Amino acid sequence: MDNRDRIRVIVLANQKGGVGKTTTAINLGTALAAIGETVLILDMDPQGNASTGLGIDPSQRKVSTYDVLTGVKTLADAIQPTVVPRLFIVPSTMDLLGLELSIADQADRSFKLKNALSAFSNGGGKAISEKITYVLIDCPPSLNLLTINGLAASDSVLVPLQCEFFALEGLSQLLSTVEHVKRSLNPTLTIHGVVLTMFDGRNNLASQVVADVRSFLGKKVYDTVIPRNVRVSEAPSYGKPVLLYDLKCNGSQAYLKLASEVIQRERELRAA
Ligand code: ADP
Ligand code: MG
Repeated sequence: MDNRDRIRVIVLANQKGGVGKTTTAINLGTALAAIGETVLILDMDPQGNASTGLGIDPSQRKVSTYDVLTGVKTLADAIQPTVVPRLFIVPSTMDLLGLELSIADQADRSFKLKNALSAFSNGGGKAISEKITYVLIDCPPSLNLLTINGLAASDSVLVPLQCEFFALEGLSQLLSTVEHVKRSLNPTLTIHGVVLTMFDGRNNLASQVVADVRSFLGKKVYDTVIPRNVRVSEAPSYGKPVLLYDLKCNGSQAYLKLASEVIQRERELRAA
């Protein structure tokens, strides 16, 4: 396959909860779709917040990531459309909580997602006629087997980091997990970038955190900073991405900017 036709797989990972992984999966996914990409979000969190936030209620989750990871269903069987054109999802259910136990003794336990993606014939699913160009994987707040499956199946990792005093705490653990996965499971895994989330400009500490993170991580940090914005937090309760709920708000505009940066970095990665 031509390199340019390849599906790009990006995993959103950070073992801290509440840092903006799911919000970024939903809204970066929507923004990428808005600028012409065809995007699939894989919900790997038993909480299913990405599914709920995209308006997929529990009765619509007959086929879920659990079925795909256990091999009962194919990825193509599990893909559903969302309220956003060109944005698709494989929803999750609480069943995922039991996955670790049910596959723990299998030799390929870390590669369940990778194998499902490899078997996926792009454009072959019932729900889609377009070719998927980006897969975004939304991980649980843990470095468990679900997150390991996400890292093993991906080209790169996107790390959401909340603009708070302890932002960098836990980052070294995440980075060493990424190194470990690189050595043992996925040698070509790279860090796509780090996105600072929930920035509050009225808070001096937040600006200091941004400066610290930039001096520590340099170019890995995207220029775009996602502001704390009440519209962003309201949108999921309407089952909508913020870009559909209020396109003009700062949060929506920031996610559109992030999407163009992500595409720009992809071009650079591909050219390299
Ligand atoms: P994670 O998936 O990392 O646990 P979430 O994306 O669910 O984190 O975000 C945690 C909470 O913060 C959610 O209630 C979400 O609505 C809220 N939130 C996330 N990003 C923003 C933002 N930019 N502005 C305001 N609230 C946000
Ligand atoms: Mg989440």
